[in-house]
Amino acid sequence: MNDHLHLRIATLSVHACPLAPLGSWETGGMNVYIREVSRHLSDLGVHVDVFTRQQGEHVDAVVPLAERARVIHVPAGPGRYLPKDRVVAHLPEFICNMRDFIQSDNAGYDVIHSHYWLSGRIAGYFKSVWRIPMVAMFHTLAELKNQVSPNDDERESTVRAGIERMTVAAADRVIASTTVDRGHLEDYYEADRERITILPCGVDLDLFHPGDTDAARGSLGLSEERMILFVGRIQQLKGIEVLLRAARALVDRAEMPPFQVMIVGGRPSGERNDPEIRELHRLQRLVGELGLNDRIRWAGAIDQRELPRYYQAADVTVVPSTYESFGLVALESMACGTPVVASKVGGLLATVQNGENGFLIPSRNPDDYACRIAELLGPTKLQQQFGTVARERATHFGWRRVATQLLDLYQDLRAARAHGQAPTTVWQK
Ligand code: UDP
Repeated sequence: MNDHLHLRIATLSVHACPLAPLGSWETGGMNVYIREVSRHLSDLGVHVDVFTRQQGEHVDAVVPLAERARVIHVPAGPGRYLPKDRVVAHLPEFICNMRDFIQSDNAGYDVIHSHYWLSGRIAGYFKSVWRIPMVAMFHTLAELKNQVSPNDDERESTVRAGIERMTVAAADRVIASTTVDRGHLEDYYEADRERITILPCGVDLDLFHPGDTDAARGSLGLSEERMILFVGRIQQLKGIEVLLRAARALVDRAEMPPFQVMIVGGRPSGERNDPEIRELHRLQRLVGELGLNDRIRWAGAIDQRELPRYYQAADVTVVPSTYESFGLVALESMACGTPVVASKVGGLLATVQNGENGFLIPSRNPDDYACRIAELLGPTKLQQQFGTVARERATHFGWRRVATQLLDLYQDLRAARAHGQAPTTVWQK
């Protein structure tokens, strides 16, 4: 039996359950990351318990995720969805119930790994109690998001930024997904470079692969029209407005073949005053004003297992975000052999290679997006050529590789502790 079969990881993901349906206001890349990494770590022989806040009345307390990975639903506050800022008040209850579960389960852990700021707060507590190494990953950072957030619904609180600061100071290792991400941790949070590990996110290469384009198009009811795809949460940060305005510019181009824009994502929470509904209505009004009603299809959220045929059917996927810390959608599209036109921000620079497998747009100008989309949809072979290079590039980003690198990191931290190097002091730098 390998030594790492005895490695036990407590993964904290207070507000993002790896089992939650994707495409809502607050579910996306982070849920996927935790789910996939936990499964692959399990395959590598590591035991992973993912602790997340219980968000349904009738969910089982413990749900298996893989042979050695489990999701533990911890009661804290009402057993339903809560916006993340309202989860803060329930963190003490989360800690008590998580501690009770661990005691009754007789579990012990070698490393605690937190995802996002809410979990960072709790991981800091358990690190000080258990005296084990702590790894933190943020996925997005408040200070950065506030630089680019276009409206109040998407702005982040000072409480969040403060907790992020404390978590950066407390963690033995902070994971950045790219060098850009590392730069932000250093610039905005004074993170110590020696404690940052760069580890890109991944893609499920078995699920996302090139396929029969005609069959995929037929299944979506497309005939001759070309397809421009967007996949993601319905938030202003995702830049859907830029895509809609680019579509208007494309309609006005004489050489442009008929096309449809497919928008995948959006899962209303049912809460009163749902910000997603506000944003959706704003975008739908804009579609009317732009005279695009017959060009735009709102698919709503789609189960991830169904997404490959959307990417396979598409001629191009557009990722016009004002910011992306990594951007799994770009990678998934590339893995399906569909080129990407993306904004030149954050993690998209790590996957999309301008002029090789897609285009990176440095501006927010819809005309710049329209030009590049038209180039790809034009009569040349550029789309196929980029698609082939995109798939090849994506094959370097399988989840197995991510999990293997994480395993190395966990083992290093455990070994350092065994050699008497105490975890760094909690809440101090
Ligand atoms: N996704 C999905 N169904 C949807 C919309 C999105 O499964 O209807 C998934 C998508 O496949 C991707 C994730 O949600 O894995 C979004 O991740 P990304 O990093 O692109 O954006 P984030 O949500 O982290 O901002």
